[in-house]
Amino acid sequence: MTEKSLPDTTTLREKAERYLMPNYGTRDVVLVQGEGVRVRDSDGKEYLDFLGGIGVNNLGHCHPAVVGALKRQAEKLLHTSNAFLLQPQIELAERLCANLGMTKALFANSGAEVTEAAIKLARLWSRKKFGEDRHRIMVFKNSFHGRTFGALSATWSPKVREGFDPVLPGFVFAEFNDLMDVDEKWDDSICAVMMETVQGEGGVRPANSVFLRGLRQRCTEREAAMICDEVQCGMGRTGRRMAYQWAEVLPDIVPVAKALGGGVPIGALLARGEFADVFQKGSHGTTFGGNPLACAAALAATDILFEDGFLAEVGRKACCLWGLMESIIADFPEVCDHVRGVGLMQGLVLKVPALLLPAIARRHGLLVGVTAETVVRLLPPLIVSDEDLEEGAAKLRAALTEFRDHVMEKSRAQ
Ligand SMILES: *Cc1c(COP(=O)(O)O)cnc(C)c1O
Repeated sequence: MTEKSLPDTTTLREKAERYLMPNYGTRDVVLVQGEGVRVRDSDGKEYLDFLGGIGVNNLGHCHPAVVGALKRQAEKLLHTSNAFLLQPQIELAERLCANLGMTKALFANSGAEVTEAAIKLARLWSRKKFGEDRHRIMVFKNSFHGRTFGALSATWSPKVREGFDPVLPGFVFAEFNDLMDVDEKWDDSICAVMMETVQGEGGVRPANSVFLRGLRQRCTEREAAMICDEVQCGMGRTGRRMAYQWAEVLPDIVPVAKALGGGVPIGALLARGEFADVFQKGSHGTTFGGNPLACAAALAATDILFEDGFLAEVGRKACCLWGLMESIIADFPEVCDHVRGVGLMQGLVLKVPALLLPAIARRHGLLVGVTAETVVRLLPPLIVSDEDLEEGAAKLRAALTEFRDHVMEKSRAQ
């Protein structure tokens, strides 16, 4: 990375405190530049990025193919609205449908927007086909589908919902990976089942194949829509284009976002068969959705992410990361419990709250996240090299040594 003149970090922190709403808490690090798996802050310190923009930077930072596509599109056309046909949007719809066995696409700008659209689509489909009363959607413990009201109502965490009641009615929560509970909670009012194929925010918990196949079978038999939220686990993250491919099931409705645009905000709602023509003129829409700039970036990103050779490499590197985590667990038995996840979406589950770990890891030059209190979330860019993985594991070891000593000291003091 080349040095550029750096902003004054202290001034930026002061301005942030004064002008930004404090909903993301106190943030100290000002990131100013990124390339590949590395980012640099305003003090010139370099970090290895194993948080990957929370599942967005699957191609790393500023991938040349994405940057090139953005530059070319920016000089041609930025925005026109959906009153007109747009070549990048049409090509992206074709690309996604052809590669994922889907029929049609609808574009929006974020994950929450497309899960929201999935909820609206499922309800409208059911209303048209079965009438008023069949409108409830089954969702799961530890789910996360976004922060808008519909998506929030489908989200399990009381912390995320706190203070916003009443949320949208019509969601039934069942146990994840538990078909008995699904059957117990299922009644004639259910029109759809919505799950993350691999739960992200809820603690990196994969749906198992038996569960996914069981849901597919029930949705087919009972005429309900199967919605797989692939916002975080899709787009090559698990070593397949979509995580549900591991279970060899095909859902009816699939929201994708995060990594789709290679770092640019875009979401897509994909639907199959009869679900593809539920929205009619006026049913749904958004001003920016499918904007040419975002679609050009997504075309460049999917060119790489959908490639078989690329995905095979993700699988190989995932095994490498898993092995490194297993050896860390063996060496830090006081604080580490186990690793879970699929592909390069892995969670190192600690025996103690992990909230202090990201700041310690940053001091050692590594960016990681924590979710569900005790889970260190690893979402490295899929372009990560074997050497990067080993360097990341070494940095994590250094951070865990410090973290363990801190935890042990605290427990001795009590
Ligand atoms: C991040 C996420 C969302 C919400 O996406 P936003 O772009 O933050 O609105 C929805 N579903 C899942 C599974 C996610 O991980």
